[in-house]
Amino acid sequence: MTAPVGADLPRIKVAVDAPQHSGIGGPLDYVSEVVLAPGSLVRVPLGKRELLGIVWPRGAQAIEPTEYADPSKLRAILAVLEGLTPLSASWCRLLEFAAAYYQRGVGEVALSVLPPQLRELQSPQLQLRLKRMRKWVAEQIAAPVQASPSRPTLSPAQAEVLAQLDALLTEPASATAKGAQAPVLLYGVTGSGKTEVYLRAAEHALKQGRQVLVLVPEINLTPQLEARFAERFVGRVLVSLHSGLTPAQRLRNWLAAHEGQAELVLGTRLAVFASMPRLGLIVVDEEHDPSYKQQDGARYSARDLAVYRAHLEKIPVILGSATPSLESWQHANQGRYKRLALPERIGGGALPRVRLFDMRLMPLSKGVTTALTRPLLEALRLRLERGEQSLIFLNRRGYAPVLHCSECNWKSDCPHCSAWRVFHKGDRSLRCHHCGFSERVPAACPTCGNQDIAPLGRGTERLEEQLREQLPGARVLRIDADSTKLKGELEAHMAAVHAGEVDIVVGTQMITKGHDFRRITFVAAVNPDGALFSSDFRAPERLFALLMQAGGRAGRDAEQAARSEMWVQTWHPEHALYKALAKHDFEDFAKSQLAERESAGLPPFAHLAMLRAEARTPEVAKAFLDAAARWAQALPVAAEVLIYPCIPMSVARIANVERMQMLVEAPSRSALQRLLWLWNPELHALKREHKGLMRWAVDVDPLAI
Ligand code: ADP
Ligand code: ZN
Ligand code: ZN
Repeated sequence: MTAPVGADLPRIKVAVDAPQHSGIGGPLDYVSEVVLAPGSLVRVPLGKRELLGIVWPRGAQAIEPTEYADPSKLRAILAVLEGLTPLSASWCRLLEFAAAYYQRGVGEVALSVLPPQLRELQSPQLQLRLKRMRKWVAEQIAAPVQASPSRPTLSPAQAEVLAQLDALLTEPASATAKGAQAPVLLYGVTGSGKTEVYLRAAEHALKQGRQVLVLVPEINLTPQLEARFAERFVGRVLVSLHSGLTPAQRLRNWLAAHEGQAELVLGTRLAVFASMPRLGLIVVDEEHDPSYKQQDGARYSARDLAVYRAHLEKIPVILGSATPSLESWQHANQGRYKRLALPERIGGGALPRVRLFDMRLMPLSKGVTTALTRPLLEALRLRLERGEQSLIFLNRRGYAPVLHCSECNWKSDCPHCSAWRVFHKGDRSLRCHHCGFSERVPAACPTCGNQDIAPLGRGTERLEEQLREQLPGARVLRIDADSTKLKGELEAHMAAVHAGEVDIVVGTQMITKGHDFRRITFVAAVNPDGALFSSDFRAPERLFALLMQAGGRAGRDAEQAARSEMWVQTWHPEHALYKALAKHDFEDFAKSQLAERESAGLPPFAHLAMLRAEARTPEVAKAFLDAAARWAQALPVAAEVLIYPCIPMSVARIANVERMQMLVEAPSRSALQRLLWLWNPELHALKREHKGLMRWAVDVDPLAI
């Protein structure tokens, strides 16, 4: 490694994943003896290390901290990864935008979304991979081209939607002149034929020689969608991108997309950053799903970035949902998104009849948790007799959320967190769901020795146990994070449900999503009220979506639809959310929620950022946030924004780390961004004063506050 190289060589900017000491760092300066196209991958020295970097296009990044560095001190790049097509200018712009908007270094974000294996490769190895990938792909293309698979005749509603979409899809050229197109919000209940619309739109893009990107919120949903796309597009190259792939698979699939061989890319939120040179369409399925928001590092929203990317590349984007996010819904109300609706289920399937049960009036069964009311057990028995499946939704795993001693009032708290440890009966453990701390269940109360310690409340494990007791002979299956830990377990469970080997499925929100069950005629939500009174302003929106989705599991064919039911057992049957749910009326629900949000000054009527600090003591975290607030209050932009006093996070302590947060509210994105940009270097400086005793992060457009 030779250091000073002189000022004569051409200077280039290289984005590297280096720790940022002073604000949102841009790419670093290097020199190169050869001319390098922007987007090329290079290996560069940094300190004593050698890193992968991306030759960055000039002029776009607003902050260029090393611009004035002494030219004689610049170091030379070490090597170029040869044979790889450079990343496109629009890809670099997408990454620049993401980094700036979510307040991270551009190199950090750009390098973190590349396949990890790329970092270790030298040119010869890369070329070997490329060669293998191409052979991969060539074999797939060379497979006997099968007769074009039959497509269903479009329903009138689908035809109408596609006619409208067609106008958008066929005008990419004129759109360039006009500027970007409006994103499409495809609003339709489960089973209304949204996926068929995605398939047709994809077909359109493929015919034009373009690539298609389809995003789904969860890995679990990829195999199902992959199967449908593969079945439709026989002989086309389809790859997936998600965190469940091996590093080698991820590299191969990424390369296939990047080199333009893969025509269809299916993936989770990370795939929004896939490099696709001929991208012609983006689909975001279940666009409302919170999984699209990354919860650490650069806390990006893949849904929002998909919209930005489509705008950047002037291509259509379709956001699909039965219960759109209120942000997207409001955009459609304002005409910024084009709303297209599929109001009915395909083939006459109706949504199940929703019945609200007032828990205050429900006859309880003896010796059973309150959730299993007598009418509920009767309803389950009826389905058992008819040979139909039922699904019970309870969004809490474990046996009981807490163990309790009635003598001294001891509760199974976690010594490291401000949370209870959950009782798991299966392995007789008390387990903290926040820090993972786990111990065997004590035989007696650890405080007073009372042997009569009892579980309070219920989780899926307890519900499963009691269902087995109450309905002997019924085949009960529990599906939650605990019962699906091992690879392949979830798939096996799902297959059992599909095959009719299960009578009653008990599970958390895991079972409400996307799975196309055919035999379910009865869905019950047994304890959903918590979300109504949560401090999280998005909790009702999420609950409504979950319950609509849970209900969507039942009655998918017309014959069953007539006798399909969804039960909600609630202490608050008069609540507007349940009233709207009973009518399957998302629009009514959205209207009332939006009115509430507007009067409370919450998104989408305000723009939020959350500054979080973590430290060993709450005082240190608070001191940091208070100092940050004082500094920000002195800025001219402070007149436009509201900085709230800092408060502990809802779980204030996790693994002995105290967590505080401070909310910032602004009337516009730009005001918020201006504040954050000025703030960022100051926050880095403040943190340095704390000498590593704390951590901070900013969450732009946080999901929960
Ligand atoms: P969604 O994505 O809204 O849940 P799908 O596109 O999966 O809906 O459609 C639901 C079911 O109806 C699927 O089994 C699909 O194959 C079928 N389907 C969709 N469109 C049609 C159509 N036009 N004719 C017949 N069946 C259809
Ligand atoms: Zn006790
Ligand atoms: Zn804990």
